[in-house]
Amino acid sequence: VGKYQLKNLKGNTWIIEAPANIGLYTEDNITTIIDSGNDKEAGKQILNLIKGQNWVLKYIVNTHSNADHIGGNAYLQSNANCRICATKIEAAIIQDPVLEPTFLWGTLPLKELRNKFLEAKPSSVTDIIDNEGRIADTQLEAIALKGHFIDMIGVRTPDNVIFLGDSIFSKEIIEKYPVFFLYDVQEYLNTLDKIGALQADLFVPSHGRVSEDLTELIEINKSNVSNISETIINICSEPLNMEAVLQKLCGHYNIKLNCSQYVLVGSTLKSYLTYLQEKGLLEYYFESEKMLWRRKL
Ligand SMILES: [Zn+2]
Repeated sequence: VGKYQLKNLKGNTWIIEAPANIGLYTEDNITTIIDSGNDKEAGKQILNLIKGQNWVLKYIVNTHSNADHIGGNAYLQSNANCRICATKIEAAIIQDPVLEPTFLWGTLPLKELRNKFLEAKPSSVTDIIDNEGRIADTQLEAIALKGHFIDMIGVRTPDNVIFLGDSIFSKEIIEKYPVFFLYDVQEYLNTLDKIGALQADLFVPSHGRVSEDLTELIEINKSNVSNISETIINICSEPLNMEAVLQKLCGHYNIKLNCSQYVLVGSTLKSYLTYLQEKGLLEYYFESEKMLWRRKL
């Protein structure tokens, strides 16, 4: 974690630029933050910056439960006694973060997967919120942005700044890690259309730069999905099991696997298999106790 800085975006809306950007909204010295950074160290720096302004941290709103967005929760809750808001299913993982490596591996996770990138420290969600509408008794509004994760939200502040969570990724990230995690490919595409129609003065992706206009970035994100889909369909010109498709996909995109990458890229590939099967572009069958995927003619 580098040295964090507080930057005003507009009115009462602020940002701490970090590997996963942190949003802040302060009115009458009462602060709500949107996501909490990677870990305890991030939490410490966030709290110091808030205290330095004589603000009081009252709420953390988590856009979703991935460790890089909730990593500061535990430190902040025990040191500032703040409330934590999240949608119901994301709250389950925030409270019992072992569910994250469990979900990725599919059962009792390997010990190597129980690392801080995949499993944050537990914290208590005090406010289960709807994925649309006013968030607890804050002035903030939730916007459902499903796709990257199960019930992810964006957050609009009264300054008409929208924090987008991981609903859209920067060009740099897509070039470096095109096969980033997706839970539901179709919902991710629907969400890209949805954010394209939102009116706001500023948009803040968690992993990307603040922007006034998302048009170009939405197209980059969409065409990345088309490229990956086409690549998988081509790989499945010959029937292959998931592991073999994964190997070829990694070859195509020059992805090197370790244990964490294996479950992240592997799960994302399975999300694409579900999506392409539902679209009638791929089908599976069983042969010699192998589940084989092939292009549907
Ligand atoms: Zn993220």
